[in-house]
Amino acid sequence: MKGFTSTILHSDLRRPIEHGSLHKPVHTSVAFGYDNAREIAEVFQGKRKGYSYARQINPTVAALEEKITLMEAGLATACFATGMAAIAAVMFALLRQGDHLVSSRFLFGNTNSLFNTLTNMGIEVSFVDATDADEVAAAIRPETRMVFVETIANPCTQVSDLEGIGRLCEERGLLYVVDNTMTSPWLFRPVTVGAGLVINSLTKFIAGHGDVLGGAVTETGRFDWSRYPNIYDVYKKGEPSGWGLLQIKKKGLRDTGGTLSAMAAHQIAIGAETLALRLDRSSSNAQTLAAFFAHHPAIERVFYPGLPVHPEHERARALFRSFGSLMSIELKEGIDCFEVLDALRLPIVSSNLGDNRTLAIPVAQTIYFEMGPERRASMGISDGMIRLSIGIEDIDDLLDDFRHGLPT
Ligand SMILES: *Cc1c(COP(=O)(O)O)cnc(C)c1O
Repeated sequence: MKGFTSTILHSDLRRPIEHGSLHKPVHTSVAFGYDNAREIAEVFQGKRKGYSYARQINPTVAALEEKITLMEAGLATACFATGMAAIAAVMFALLRQGDHLVSSRFLFGNTNSLFNTLTNMGIEVSFVDATDADEVAAAIRPETRMVFVETIANPCTQVSDLEGIGRLCEERGLLYVVDNTMTSPWLFRPVTVGAGLVINSLTKFIAGHGDVLGGAVTETGRFDWSRYPNIYDVYKKGEPSGWGLLQIKKKGLRDTGGTLSAMAAHQIAIGAETLALRLDRSSSNAQTLAAFFAHHPAIERVFYPGLPVHPEHERARALFRSFGSLMSIELKEGIDCFEVLDALRLPIVSSNLGDNRTLAIPVAQTIYFEMGPERRASMGISDGMIRLSIGIEDIDDLLDDFRHGLPT
C-alpha cells in the first residue's frame, strides 16, 4: 500500500487490534498491570515494550504516533497536548545554557514568544530571514545547535529556503527542525530536504475540524545524533537515530507533562483520515480566492504562495503539492479592516486556522498584538492586514460573500 490516504485509513489494522475494532480503542487507563514484577522492571528499563504510565505513553496515542510517522515517512513520533507543547519539549530537551539557536524570524506568534523566553534562560537565539539560506549561514556560530524554520510562515506566507537550509545543516552537521504545520505532510514532507525533526500542530490541518488540540514531533532518521553534544548517556541506547526522540520523550514529554489525552488522539486520528481530501479542496478554494483578491480595488496586496507575484512562488511550486489554504490580504489605506470583517457573513472571525470553515482575523490587533509595533513592522504586518484560513465551503458561496463584503 503506497497511497497517502489508504495508508492512513488502514494503519491501525497493521497490528492486531482489540475485537477487530476498525478504530484503535480509546484507552483511558492511567497505569497498566503486569503479569509479574520482572516485567514491570523490564518495561521501565526499556528492555521490553510496554506501557508504564499514561503521561509518557498510551496505546491510543501510540497508534496516532504511528499514523503520523507514516504520513511524514519518518522513523518515530512523539505526540503532545498541543503544537506548542511539542515545540517547547524539543527546546527544553535538547538545548542547554550557552547554546545558540538560529531561527526564522517569520514565526508563529507563540513560538516567537517561547524563543524570547529561551533567551532569558541562557540560550541565545538569532532571528534571520529564512527565505535565504545565506542569512542562516551567516548566523551560525560554534555554539549553534539547531536551525528552526516553518514551511510557509504566518501571516505573510514567506516560504523558507527549505532545500538550501537543509544542505547547509547537512554540511555543518546541524540539527534541522522544520515546523510543517502550514503545509502538513500531505503538501510537503520535510524529510525530503534533510530535516532531522518535523513538528506538526495536529490542531490545524491534520485534525482539521477545529475541535481538538494536539502536537507532534517526528524523528526522520536524517540527523546523526552521535554528533549532538547534549544527549545524556542514559539515552544513548541502540541506534543513534533513535537517541534524539528518546530524549525528547523523557526530558520533554515525561518531565514537562504536556501529554496528549487518549480521547484527543482518537479525534485527531478520525480527522487525519480526510486530510488529503480537505486540503485539496481548501487549497483549490484559496487559489481561486487569491486570484479574485489580486484584482480587487479594495485590496492593496495579497500574500499567497500560489500567486505568480509571490516572491517564493517558484520555490513553493517546486516543493509543495499545492499552495495551501492560508493567505493574508492587506486592505488599501483608509479601509477599516473591522468594518470589512463585520460585513462578511461566511468567514468566522476566529484565531484558529486549518478548520473546514473559513476563518478570518485582523492580525496586528490580535495574534501579533503582544509583540509590539516594531517587531510587527519587521515581519511586514500592517494594521490593515486580515489573515484568512480558507475552508472547504462551496467556492461560489465564498466568492459571493467576498464580493458583497469588500468595498468597491
Ligand atoms: C498553531 C501553530 C502552532 C502551535 O500549535 P497549537 O496546537 O495551537 O499549540 C505552532 N506552529 C504553527 C506554524 C502553528 O500554526
